[in-house]
Amino acid sequence: MFDDNSITLSVVIPIYNEEANLAYLFERVLENLQGLNIPYEIICVNDGSRDRSLQRLIQYHLENPAIKIVSFSRNFGKDIALSAGLDYVSGAAVIPLDADLQDPPELMGCLLEKWRQGYDVVYATRRDRQGESWLKRLSSGGFYRLLGRVSDVPIPRDTGDFRLMDRQVVEALKRLPERNRFMKGLFAWVGYRQVAIEYDRQSRYAGKSKWNYWQLWNFALDGITAFSSIPLKVWSYLGLGISLVALVYAVFLVIRTLISGIDVPGYASLMVAVLFMGGVQLISLGVIGEYLGRVYEEVKGRPLYLVRDLYGFEGDSNPKGEGPSESDGGGEE
Ligand code: UDP
Ligand code: MG
Repeated sequence: MFDDNSITLSVVIPIYNEEANLAYLFERVLENLQGLNIPYEIICVNDGSRDRSLQRLIQYHLENPAIKIVSFSRNFGKDIALSAGLDYVSGAAVIPLDADLQDPPELMGCLLEKWRQGYDVVYATRRDRQGESWLKRLSSGGFYRLLGRVSDVPIPRDTGDFRLMDRQVVEALKRLPERNRFMKGLFAWVGYRQVAIEYDRQSRYAGKSKWNYWQLWNFALDGITAFSSIPLKVWSYLGLGISLVALVYAVFLVIRTLISGIDVPGYASLMVAVLFMGGVQLISLGVIGEYLGRVYEEVKGRPLYLVRDLYGFEGDSNPKGEGPSESDGGGEE
């Protein structure tokens, strides 16, 4: 449903406690959008901010109706905020943008240029990562290398959510019903004609990144479990290998006992074998648990997000109302 054909570009901005960035964000984004000279909208998804981000956003919305707000009932996380934004866009092309100005809005013209040449997805690959510690660089490098190895679809490395998508691609993304929104992977999964451009990723304008290492670790697990079932399958092969070794050892022991009689010492080899097998079994159980937990999340079938307020959308005469019917998330009936 292409409800509003007059809008060319929709910019989607997930916002969680970004009060300090908003003024500079809108200054730069609006300046660039006006330079592009196309009809646009900016969809801000307030992901349950606890500072005054929402109040500030409402002021901007009142000044400029092209700025629209989807406000969640609580914090649902960046990937879900982004998915929600996609449910509300009406432009022919869509660009997700971080509120911290790590994705330079100046590139939007460049992305549009490629889109006009006929590409459906123009993604921006970062050339270097300023303002990130060596540990984060090392771990994210390792993660993307591993993900590339095990994933069924090639997921471009060093690519965030900053990209331009044709409306067709957005509609395709909206049909993916999963709760685990590992967006980088989903973007790759849908396919279409994709092309990359390079840029230098800036450091955050103000505030701190919301990720800590525990969250990053879980993010990595989400990505790997969502796009590969190899970790689930290796255990049968490992088990097979260990059984073969055990069989050979058993034959050796039986023959040795037959030849030289019963030999009681052997405590060390016994303990090593028992502990090793115990460890392997616990790890494999844990891996099954990681998948099972995610299966459980999916089958519960809860809505992806809940919207508390909408500002600037059609039929939103009552800004405290529940919003359009798809506001209970997912965009899928
Ligand atoms: N964000 C969000 N919900 C969250 C965490 C972050 O909407 O729970 C938004 C945040 O406001 C920003 C973007 O996601 O616009 C990227 O967040 P951040 O800079 O913390 O992530 P990083 O750039 O380190 O990946
Ligand atoms: Mg950031």
